[in-house]
Amino acid sequence: MNNFIEKINFKKVAILYIIIALLVGIGLLIFIGNKFQNKLEFIYEYNNISKNFEKNNYNLEKIKEEIKNLSENSQDIVDVLILSNENQILYSSKNSELGKQGQFELDRKDNKTDEYYTNPNMDNVIFRLTSDKELMLTTVLSNFDNDVKKDYEDEIFFEKNLSEKNLYLLSYAINDSTGEKIYFINEIHPVINGKAYIKMALAIIMFLFMIYWIIVAVFIYQDALKSKLNPYLWGGITLFTNLAGVIIYIIYKQNNKTCFKCKTVQNRNNVYCTYCGTKLDKTCKTCGATINVHDKYCGRCGEKQI
Ligand SMILES: [Zn+2]
Ligand SMILES: [Zn+2]
Repeated sequence: MNNFIEKINFKKVAILYIIIALLVGIGLLIFIGNKFQNKLEFIYEYNNISKNFEKNNYNLEKIKEEIKNLSENSQDIVDVLILSNENQILYSSKNSELGKQGQFELDRKDNKTDEYYTNPNMDNVIFRLTSDKELMLTTVLSNFDNDVKKDYEDEIFFEKNLSEKNLYLLSYAINDSTGEKIYFINEIHPVINGKAYIKMALAIIMFLFMIYWIIVAVFIYQDALKSKLNPYLWGGITLFTNLAGVIIYIIYKQNNKTCFKCKTVQNRNNVYCTYCGTKLDKTCKTCGATINVHDKYCGRCGEKQI
């Protein structure tokens, strides 16, 4: 076992590991990006539109254009409405039943959380008010069905069975100066297996991290073995503490001498290597100061050493 570990070339292992980790990382990014592309584009565009709309001098025509594009590209959108400060519908991106009503009103359902609303003209729809962040999480991961069922059980405010109703997510942007609003009305179409993909990606990242962790420990084990230190002790410390162990190991080695010939760590007061008998230090011929074997000049008097 030790023979095998001693032969590992860690430079090559490190390069190989970095290449593999990079490739796997890029592959994962492409895979996840691909699976969630539509959702991520939606989030990006949604944020853009909301931000632009909340500015003081927004360009309504440009915003309509952006909303139209968003509606065409997203599979979740039921409709996006622009409302005047008196809830007149100024624009409906999909001309759905919701948008045909001239005026768009929401009645607050009697519920504890203030999250559920109905529209007087549409009996079969329940709107759930959603914050930006919630909308994004929901769009990508969708725990939603469970959340709503739980709400339903907790509050029992729906007269009819929930399954007879369409549940829409409603998030909005508002411009403070004009009082105009944009209502983004979404249905939930979660990415199929979306959660499983995210879990799988996390598991792969964890695995790569674990491999890195073990490589570092084996590297220190090997170095300790070569230095005639206790490999189990140093490898073990590094296995539990990783970089902290590496730092302690380096400091320990620097506080002692390493034989330049056989790499054994020696007590700093030793003159000869206890393992191979090599003289560990030289003395300057001119001033007698102790100097390192590889020093070209004396550190005290500056004399050139041959
Ligand atoms: Zn030696
Ligand atoms: Zn000298």
